[in-house]
Amino acid sequence: SLSDGLQSAFKSLRGKGKLTEANMRDGLKLVEQSMLEADVSYSVVQSFMEHVTEKAVGRRVLMSLRPGEELVKIVYDELVDILGPVDSSLHLKADGVTVIMMCGLQGSGKTTTCGKLSQLLKEQNIKPLLVAADLQRPAAIEQLRVIGRQLDVPVYAEEGANDPVKVCQAGVKQAQQQGARVVILDTAGRLAIDKELMDQLARIDKRVKPDQVYLVVDGMTGQDAVNSAGAFNEALELDGVVMTKLDGDARGGALLSVKHVTGVPIKFIGTGEHFDALEPFRPEGMTGRILQMGDMVAAAREAHRIVDESQREELEEKMKSGEMTLDDFKGLMEKVAKPGLMGKMMGLMPGMGQLKDLMNSEEAAGGIKQTIGAINSMTLEERRNPKIIDIARRTRIAKGSGVQASAITQLVKQFEQMKPIMQAMAGGGMGDRMQLMRQ
Ligand code: GDP
Ligand code: MG
Repeated sequence: SLSDGLQSAFKSLRGKGKLTEANMRDGLKLVEQSMLEADVSYSVVQSFMEHVTEKAVGRRVLMSLRPGEELVKIVYDELVDILGPVDSSLHLKADGVTVIMMCGLQGSGKTTTCGKLSQLLKEQNIKPLLVAADLQRPAAIEQLRVIGRQLDVPVYAEEGANDPVKVCQAGVKQAQQQGARVVILDTAGRLAIDKELMDQLARIDKRVKPDQVYLVVDGMTGQDAVNSAGAFNEALELDGVVMTKLDGDARGGALLSVKHVTGVPIKFIGTGEHFDALEPFRPEGMTGRILQMGDMVAAAREAHRIVDESQREELEEKMKSGEMTLDDFKGLMEKVAKPGLMGKMMGLMPGMGQLKDLMNSEEAAGGIKQTIGAINSMTLEERRNPKIIDIARRTRIAKGSGVQASAITQLVKQFEQMKPIMQAMAGGGMGDRMQLMRQ
């Protein structure tokens, strides 16, 4: 899987203090490949990779033992940034009618999304009115009427009309008369972009002056999402994007392309055919989906969050002076007593790799609990200076905590092994690494 691939590519980055173009190459290749597989268009991927490389090169690695994760974090943060900002407000006017125009290719989900938005408004006790402005297909009016009946929302339609501008204007007028607060215009689409369609939409935009114009994009669209989004963006003043059909396995890379081209907020995602299958857009979830490395990213972020700046400095001081005790160690473990996090945690601390392996070799969470239990059963003096733990003390601790005596020996041994390493790192020659931790 991509995640495994990234892990192994990043292994080659292990122990390198800085990210360079050379040492990131393999990792970035995989990220690139993953984005292409997610259907982000080629040109968008290229410009993204350039940007990320530029940002990452020369960046010192916070987690000096895991620069690969630092790279993942840079990529992730950049994607979240690009896909933002979060804005799923419909920006309804304080008084008067707010007009929302939906546009997009045929089959992208415009009409369905009109229903979903109506449902959303109704839940907030806001009265919508739907306007059947798709005059291309005879069945389009009936489709909207059915939705209106299902949701108990009024639909304005003119049988046999041929000017969508007039229909929209009449629809807005009716909304004003009926006291509806929102008008949603369901416009026509084509299978491919054509001039006539674009002209028609541009005319509605110009004459009806909708307050919000949303482009509806099929989440299963691939590489050509860039072209169609570009065409709509040129013809209309878009205010937002809705991406539908993200309930399947589509990875939604088109979203990145569409965002790149239009620059407008992504408002909602459609996750099903039912009217409640509309979710406000959240860049974090989408980013994990596009990169297909949600777990890895989540763990890296969690590790960052857990050891905050002040704690790092305190630990660093203690390591420098050789004063790190089993209590400090316990404190760390209590924070990360969740399976999988232990390794990430240890990776944050220079020189903790050996301990990490030890912790991982025990059954993660259970092992941590045991260790914490053992330390709890020690006296203050023993925690400060575990060397004094002799056979008698060990037996007492083992009894008190229900942990095997041999596990206590191992814990103390590993801790003692780490101390000089930590001191050496803090004191001589490893200042660079300590510096890294502060960033
Ligand atoms: P329009 O031509 O743009 O108005 O597209 P429609 O609203 O008629 O939708 C086309 C098809 O896509 C219909 O079968 C919808 O049920 C389906 N559809 C729309 N949105 C979603 C979605 O979020 N998920 C799924 N699975 N299907 C959707
Ligand atoms: Mg339609």
